[in-house]
This record gives sequence, C-alpha cells and structure tokens, in this order.
Amino acid sequence: MSVQMNEQLESIYQEIVKRNPGEQEFHQAVHEVLDSLGPVLVKYPEFGKRKVIQRLAEPERQIIFRVPWTDDKGEVHINRGFRVEFNSCLGPYKGGLRFHPSVYLGIIKFLGFEQIFKNALTGLPIGGAKGGSDFDPKGKSDNEIMNFCQSFMTELYRHLGEYTDVPAGDIGVGGREIGFLFGQYKRITNRYESGVLTGKGLDYGGSLVRKEATGYGAAFFVQEMLRVRKQSYEGKTCVVSGAGNVAIYTIEKITELGGKVVACSDSNGYIHHEKGIDLELVRQLKEVERRRIKDYVEYHKDAKYIEGGNIWDVPCQVAMPCATQNELTGKDAEKLVKHGLIAVGEGANMPTTPEGVRVFQNANIAYGPGKATNAGGVATSALEMQQNASRDSWSFEYTEKRLAKIMSNIHEICYETAEEFGTPGNYVNGANIASFIKVAKAMLAMGLI
Ligand code: GLU
Repeated sequence: MSVQMNEQLESIYQEIVKRNPGEQEFHQAVHEVLDSLGPVLVKYPEFGKRKVIQRLAEPERQIIFRVPWTDDKGEVHINRGFRVEFNSCLGPYKGGLRFHPSVYLGIIKFLGFEQIFKNALTGLPIGGAKGGSDFDPKGKSDNEIMNFCQSFMTELYRHLGEYTDVPAGDIGVGGREIGFLFGQYKRITNRYESGVLTGKGLDYGGSLVRKEATGYGAAFFVQEMLRVRKQSYEGKTCVVSGAGNVAIYTIEKITELGGKVVACSDSNGYIHHEKGIDLELVRQLKEVERRRIKDYVEYHKDAKYIEGGNIWDVPCQVAMPCATQNELTGKDAEKLVKHGLIAVGEGANMPTTPEGVRVFQNANIAYGPGKATNAGGVATSALEMQQNASRDSWSFEYTEKRLAKIMSNIHEICYETAEEFGTPGNYVNGANIASFIKVAKAMLAMGLI
C-alpha cells in the first residue's frame, strides 16, 4: 500500500478487494488509479459523495460463457469465454479480445478497467470493455481457430452491436481471428454491420493504419516525452520486448524516427542484435510464418539468442515493454536505470510492476504508462468506426496524421494535468486524473447509473 493513499481511498480499495476475491491483476489496476485520486476527491467532493469510484469499479455487465469446439481430430474441447462491459458513459463499450491460456476473470477485469480510462484519454466517444478466452491459439490449425471463433461468436453476438459493444483484437486475436468472428456475426444476424468489430481486414471495412496503430502511437508518445526533455530518438539505443503486432510496429516507427532497436523477444527468450534488429525478418518469422523468435539467428550469425533470458539485461536508453502484464519488475527497473535509461513507453497493458514504476519515478525517468502510451490502437479503432459509419475509407497518410495528433493531444493532457495537480512530469497521475475526471463528470451528468 502506498503512503499517499488517504483513508477514504484506502477503505474504498479494501472494499473492492473484498468484493472481488482472487482477482490480483484487477486489484493492481484499481490500486494504481486510486493512488492518483487523493487531490481529485478534494477538488470534486461530489465524486466521493455520489460514490463514483465504487460505481466505476463495478462493471455494468459481466458475461461468462461456455465455448465448445472440435479440433482437427474430432476431439471436443471446452473453453471459457468472457466479455466484461465495464463502462458506457462515453460511448459504446470498446476494447479488445484476448485469447491466451492465462485468461481468467481477473485479467479481463484489469484490462477492462484500464480500457475505460485509456479510451477516455483518446477524446473519442468510446466506453470501456474487454473480453477473451483461456483458449490457446498456439499450434492450432487455421481450421481449429475458425471452429473456436465461430463457437465464441455464437454466444457473444447477442451482446454486441455498433451502438452497444464493439470488440477488437488483443493478444492472440489478430486479423485472421477478427475475420472469422465478423463472418460468424454477419451470418447469425443477417446484417452487414461493419462497425460491430474493429481491426477488420482492408478488403471488408478495415482501416489503414489500424494494424500499425498501437506500436506507432507508442513510438509517437515517447517522442513527445523526449521532446519535452529536449531530446530525440536520434542516436538512442532502444529495447522493445515482445515480437507481436505491438512490438513490430513500435520497432518500425522508432527506427524511422532515428532510434536503434537492438533487442526483441518472445515468451521463450530474446534476440540481441547490436547492429539493429532486422525488422523484415521478424515480420516474416512472426507475422507470416508464425515461428519462434529463436529462428532469427539462423539468418544473422552476429545476433545472439538467449533462451529463457531476461531482455531487460540489455542496456538501453529507451525501453518499450510491448509483451504482457507485469513483465518488467522492480529489479529490472533498477538495472535499466543503472544502465543509463532515459525513457519508458508501455506498448503493453500494465507491463511494469508497481515496484518497477516506483523505481522509474524516483529516478526521474520519463515514464509513459500503458493507458496513455498504447492508446493509439483503440483510438484508431474509433477512427475505423468513423469510417464505417460514413461508409468511407481514408488514406494511410491522413489516418496516420490523425493518430499522431491524437497521441500528441494525449501527451499534452497528461503532462498538463500532472502539473496542475502538483506532480510535474508524473504521467501516471496525469493520465489517471485527466481520464477519471472526464468519466466521472459524464457519469454524474447521467444521474445514478
Ligand atoms: N486491445 C487493444 C487495447 O488494449 C485495442 C482495443 C480496441 O481497439 O478496441 O487497447
């Protein structure tokens, strides 16, 4: 428990923990937000009186369902599906679907809770939600993935709609899965409702830049943090964990902006390539062939692969955790600071542990929390919804410009709010406070909901 958290917030937090036993990641995400809210409750006593925090921490609706499917041998499998519709006061529920064996209610709720605030920061009309399943897509055939997606959507479709709830991808859910899910939704409802899912293929209502958006946005956000400190990517060594969609496009944009990315990873180990990561090869291995990152060294003899290693051992000035939650610990943060770290931009959701965040803040590192730094993905989903609603499609250049502007706006809001509330340079406070106030005001305006 942090020292700043006042008694009122502390007791609200304890009540939330008690009401939601065993949901550790959810508790962590709630704690991180509440930690920033002391001065907000002083400035806006009505938020406390009307129990806005307690209402926000209770999802509007939680759906848990059975997903039966058959593999290629005809064997039956049963997975668990989730959709937690957290808050819809700024717009229809919006947030991705995660397919990963670690998924349980606590993970979906942490992601859904974060999503409320992240989506508010984009300034676009989207509420917060998250969903997914404990299904493991690793090693499954296209046919098995399709069977699973069709069964998942056969239950989920009744809860969705372009004005109700609009899912997208997250870990384990990319273009292929969204295609199967959209096909099944269309088939069951007999409606070509483009705006019901985002991250669609470009042939059927998807938006240019959506695939790149989370990574590009994260790179833009860090560029802004560096700019404020009169720095740039030029000549900086960067490390990007992960090798999925977010990591790939973070590497691409950082490289374009003058930085040198020397390491990336997957869940088995990491690649260290002093000369700079060969992005085309990573893309071929991961996106096209769905292989492991260790195969990289077959093509580059001067690169090293460290099986089971810790990517944060690699010295860098810019660290971009783009893999998964709690991947960067207090010890990792200490090592990074010792090695000359300047900035951290979270491409993943909650990748740094609370101890790690504290280390960065005490060392005055420019630290961009996920809900601000990785908001470019969902922001571009909202741009996809705009294009779908007007039956239009925008050029790559125009869409990327919109994304860059959204990211610099988010940076500015976080920066200014942190200053206004007496903690200059603290992007965690800036992001939490600015987004919370926006959501809380909308909730109060709508009465007791
Ligand atoms: N899963 C992404 C996120 O964490 C994107 C969600 C969306 O586009 O709806 O923000």
